[in-house]
Amino acid sequence: MERGDLFVISAPSGAGKSTLCSMLIEKMEWLVFSVSHTTRPPRPGEVDGKDYFFVSEQEFEELVAEDAFLEWARVHGNFYGTHRARVMEQLSRGMDVILDIDVQGAKQVKSKLPGAVTIFILPPSWQALEERLLKRGSEDKEKIKTRLKNAMKEIEEVSNYHYCVVNDKLDEAFEELKAIVSAERSKTRRVLAGRIDITRLKPSPDSWFLS
Ligand code: ADP
Ligand code: 5GP
Repeated sequence: MERGDLFVISAPSGAGKSTLCSMLIEKMEWLVFSVSHTTRPPRPGEVDGKDYFFVSEQEFEELVAEDAFLEWARVHGNFYGTHRARVMEQLSRGMDVILDIDVQGAKQVKSKLPGAVTIFILPPSWQALEERLLKRGSEDKEKIKTRLKNAMKEIEEVSNYHYCVVNDKLDEAFEELKAIVSAERSKTRRVLAGRIDITRLKPSPDSWFLS
């Protein structure tokens, strides 16, 4: 039985999802990031086991065959997947888990775990999205074109998400995202499931109040 909440965050590439997710993880100690497996090569500075588990296509296919993934998809020409056992174990320990996954993966997670909270990050404009991808410089122009082409379709999925955050000014978007995550954690079900022992809210038999 899962005790933690599962947050699914999607966005077109370049909207600022990774930036916002790492800010969240840093600030909220009960929240953990689910490290996906991918066949995409690492970008400079990316660390295996922290940003992704970087695997070959053969290794990825083996994991698919073992049914090890909660969801997986081909995105921008590479494979990405969320390791089921790892996520379920974190949720059962009462941790909140954040998945940074694409719209195809989000659909799969929603059908398997309907309690998942879904959040879409939008850029303030198409122009800003292009500029951010070009400025990040982690892909060549051809790959950026693929990501932008996919972005047009991904943005159409926004209405299927519970929440939507427009990442114009980074600090404001972060505050909004933090508010969403905090509100979910304050839901009565969550508080009673772990953060408070309700028996401590009854007077003890020797309390002056009962005499
Ligand atoms: P994603 O994970 O959605 O692909 P990133 O987090 O890598 O996007 O952000 C894409 C680029 O845009 C990065 O270079 C990042 O520093 C920058 N960025 C993120 N948020 C903002 C923002 N609010 N304003 C300007 N630049 C931003
Ligand atoms: P990037 O290559 O920029 O790190 O990620 C590209 C896209 O793949 C992003 O939309 C990101 O959310 C998505 N992604 C990352 N990990 C996973 C995953 O495990 N499953 C799915 N379906 N998508 C993922």
